[in-house]
Amino acid sequence: MPQRIVAGNWKMNKTWPEALALVAGIHESLEEVPADIQLIISAPFPYLHSLSGILEPRISLAAQDCSAHSYGAYTGEVSASMLLSCGVQYGIVGHSERRKYHGESEEIVFEKAKRLLEAGIRPIYCCGESLDDRQQGRAIEVVLKQLELLMGLENTLLRQIVIAYEPVWAVGTGITATSQEAGNMHAEIRRFLSAKGALVAENLSILYGGSCNADNAKELFATPNIDGGLIGGASLKAADFISIACSYEN
Ligand code: PEP
Repeated sequence: MPQRIVAGNWKMNKTWPEALALVAGIHESLEEVPADIQLIISAPFPYLHSLSGILEPRISLAAQDCSAHSYGAYTGEVSASMLLSCGVQYGIVGHSERRKYHGESEEIVFEKAKRLLEAGIRPIYCCGESLDDRQQGRAIEVVLKQLELLMGLENTLLRQIVIAYEPVWAVGTGITATSQEAGNMHAEIRRFLSAKGALVAENLSILYGGSCNADNAKELFATPNIDGGLIGGASLKAADFISIACSYEN
């Protein structure tokens, strides 16, 4: 069974005092969240070290990116081993905003994932098609191509990866994929990765991301092959984040 996960991606939001208030709000209602749901908070780099000291143990800490390099003269970049030393357990790679604004190629995204894996951090590997791709009927082809490099990983490493399917047209737009659209894509992703062995594919967590909120999470999470969500905007309010995490039917 894949681990069910609700991960909040704060992006470039919240000052440090605001971040502390958000964490306090999440902690306050943590008991409402079923014990088998893995909660993750993906915070800006400057907050990671301090957050690792104050987050309740059942909330894992994620970075929003990492360098494709291990160390050295790369001003402004943050390496996977630095993240590990700050208590980070997961790292988002290939988010559509990184692909769009920083021109990250498939190769760069894969290198970043490899650096995380080398450090013992679990990558949250994002993929997703543009609106044009979907309208032209090539959504599946585009998404599977984004995951192709993962096929070269040994199964022990592939098992560490969490996939986040985030259609670009749904991220931050208020437009959500229907549960059918998302469920179909998740099934295709699982089928594609099952070439690496049924056991790997069956245990792989595939999260949906793209304007998932407290109103639509229940239907999305009830859909076969959707193992949770990567939540942007709605993770910035404690009540919404908790409500999404409580949206699983047991
Ligand atoms: C995201 O940033 O990964 C995301 C899904 O954002 P939003 O929920 O705001 O669409």
